[in-house]
Amino acid sequence: MRIVFIGPPGAGKGTQCRRLSTHFAIPHLSTGEMLRKASRDTPVGRVVAAYIDNGQLAPDALVMRIVRKRLQGDDCRQGCLFDGFPRTIIQAELLDSHLAAMQQRVDVVLELQVAEAELVDRLLARAEVEGREDDTAETIQRRLQVFHSQTAPVLDYYSGRGLIEQIDGHRPPDEVFDEICRRIEA
Ligand code: AMP
Repeated sequence: MRIVFIGPPGAGKGTQCRRLSTHFAIPHLSTGEMLRKASRDTPVGRVVAAYIDNGQLAPDALVMRIVRKRLQGDDCRQGCLFDGFPRTIIQAELLDSHLAAMQQRVDVVLELQVAEAELVDRLLARAEVEGREDDTAETIQRRLQVFHSQTAPVLDYYSGRGLIEQIDGHRPPDEVFDEICRRIEA
């Protein structure tokens, strides 16, 4: 099973994906984590870090290269959980054609919905705990704008294929998790 998990920054994607990955025994592919791991000591790593720190998306070609390579892993044969990917229409189209070439497809797209004011509060609280470079008030606003302008169209793309399951992300994480499992298992 191949699951795409989409939601604005701060919606709780990472937390849910870690649990879902264990529950369904499929690897968790977070492009944000993969990009953050790119060493800041290399020229490519420095370019990537600049995008992340500014709250902008890394280039599609670079993200696709990382994802395609990761999908070659044996552990991805039975499926995987994409966290924060695809984030642009181009990524969604390239993912579809990559999967189609392997007789695979995206089975379900989970859209985690949380109101904007709540997202900002959560991200600022996370900044205190995790100290992520991109959790500053200014960068948070930019990431939310980027979500609306570049990633929300991806939801329309999948909606046209009838793949979207909308999940209310305002509830406690355990309730959100149970709801997601129910939807997927149905
Ligand atoms: P995340 O951990 O998913 O919140 O991602 C953190 C940052 O990594 C984003 O703000 C982007 O700069 C970058 N990023 C993560 N996933 C993608 C993607 N699919 N396409 C482009 N940039 C991404």
